[in-house]
Amino acid sequence: MWQAKKSLIEDACKAAENYYPDEFLCFFGGNKEKEIITEIVMLPSYNSEESASISEAVLPIDDTIIGCFHSHPNGNNKPSQEDKKFFKKYFINAIASSPFNAENTAFYSQKGEKITIKLV
Ligand SMILES: [Zn+2]
Repeated sequence: MWQAKKSLIEDACKAAENYYPDEFLCFFGGNKEKEIITEIVMLPSYNSEESASISEAVLPIDDTIIGCFHSHPNGNNKPSQEDKKFFKKYFINAIASSPFNAENTAFYSQKGEKITIKLV
């Protein structure tokens, strides 16, 4: 089971709050073998009320990025069709709905299936 520090998820939620009402997008660093998220990776992104996106050019080409996190300021934390396409690139994906906190953050597998992760 994937695990992450609860404070790390809450930090991502705080950042999402700062971007509100725009969507916020960041990435997770960690270890995919150990299924652990260890850090938030902020990369320059384009944010609007409808979406947040990133130029592939700024993504590191090594395998330090194992997941992504984004906010849904005006909706629930279910992935859109586009989200599911995006999730295919990562092992662990998170969506936070407003009000942003760990409880309102849902996690999804690479296949877009909702999964439970352990917050420690
Ligand atoms: Zn989305």
